[in-house]
Amino acid sequence: MRYFMDPFGCAKNQVDAETMLALLNDAGWIPSDDPGGADLIIVNSCGFIETAKQESINAVLAWKKQYPEKKIILAGCLTECCRAELKESLGEADGFLGCSDLDRIVKKADELFGTYYEKPDTVIRAGYRPLLSFPGSAYVKISEGCNNRCSFCTIPQIRGPLRCRSIPDIIRECKDLLTRGIKELCLIGQDLASFTQENPGQKNAMRISALAVLLEEIALLSGDFWVRLLYMHPDHFPLDILDLIVKDSRFLPYFDIPFQHASGRLLSLMGRSGDKTNYLRLLDTIRTRLPDAAIRSTFLTGFPGETEEDFAMLLNFQEQARFDWLGVFTWSREEGTAAYSMKHRISKKIAARRKILIEERQIPITEENMNRFVGRNMDILIEEEVKESGLWLGRLFCQAPEVDGATVIHGDGVITDNFPQGLLKLGGIIRGTVLARAGFDLEAGLCKLIPPDRLS
Ligand code: SF4
Repeated sequence: MRYFMDPFGCAKNQVDAETMLALLNDAGWIPSDDPGGADLIIVNSCGFIETAKQESINAVLAWKKQYPEKKIILAGCLTECCRAELKESLGEADGFLGCSDLDRIVKKADELFGTYYEKPDTVIRAGYRPLLSFPGSAYVKISEGCNNRCSFCTIPQIRGPLRCRSIPDIIRECKDLLTRGIKELCLIGQDLASFTQENPGQKNAMRISALAVLLEEIALLSGDFWVRLLYMHPDHFPLDILDLIVKDSRFLPYFDIPFQHASGRLLSLMGRSGDKTNYLRLLDTIRTRLPDAAIRSTFLTGFPGETEEDFAMLLNFQEQARFDWLGVFTWSREEGTAAYSMKHRISKKIAARRKILIEERQIPITEENMNRFVGRNMDILIEEEVKESGLWLGRLFCQAPEVDGATVIHGDGVITDNFPQGLLKLGGIIRGTVLARAGFDLEAGLCKLIPPDRLS
């Protein structure tokens, strides 16, 4: 039997989709890149905000319209949060599977085709799951769920309380991925800053954060690879990881810290404890220890009670913080969240106007920040060859997968002159010179000075 995976949502959801791929492949199902060639279509849904939910539902409706004869499973966060309702209202889906029972995907799939029979549970080594990321890069989910209670967020309802994997288990996955030739390990969780360990042991007792202990264990792994940290709550950012990042250049000085807002009054309504002064101090501490640090953040506009003064404070924070990358969302009224019943709601029009204003103001800031890399020799992770163009696409340390700009590599004419064939390899890291900025992207040429042993 053949299946097609249609993934939606965040990196955490991508790892879930990859885990389902591994379980199905292990059970003899065959992955199909083309939905037309599959018997089963799996929509791995996102349930974070209304628009994301609708996108997943539209995917099910579209597939069923296009392929009425095929079976469709709606998996993921949307099913996790709204299973009963969906079973009532979404007849186009033949089966439903939440993110808390994704290990039952084989049973669910087989049952739809009447081919299910009791099988011994298979254990999939996390490091050997098929990867949906670009070549050379993999997400490593170090924890699931969240204990923070941001009043606008549905994730704790969907993904449950915080559960952290053991450090030895994570290290095993990292080793497996590196053995497969992965060059970038992106550590993810709902909030890496909350990472903790059941049995902290001697080392943890000495250090404040378990995340620092995890990085120290990763630092013991040999080889040339990158480690990228994604999603850290600003209110409990573990400062002790900065020492390790300064010491080991494989830990990228890249931080994704969703500040959401800068008004202390509004942040406390959001269930957060920070404010503009604290947040600027955190940024200053990071940049003092790591002057080249690249920082991404997220803002939320239109939260109930957001006044023009609050918004002005957010704009001022944006001006002072000078993030490399900034994403902006408008508040979405989600059932089951504390903010759902809050008064003083802001019109969608005002929320959208505020979002656009922040985005417009961010363009020159990001461009100016990216200018600092022009003229420098940098390591580039090669992700894609643009056929018949002599161009390749890749990323520098300051460009996270899927959300930031990319680096266009001019490979043409270089191969023949100075470098052996196969120098540019998907998933490889190569040294290049940043020649120019083009919008949010960078352009690079290959350094003619690479010592042979650096050819990865
Ligand atoms: S930290 Fe806050 S926003 Fe992030 S997943 Fe947890 S509750 Fe949601």
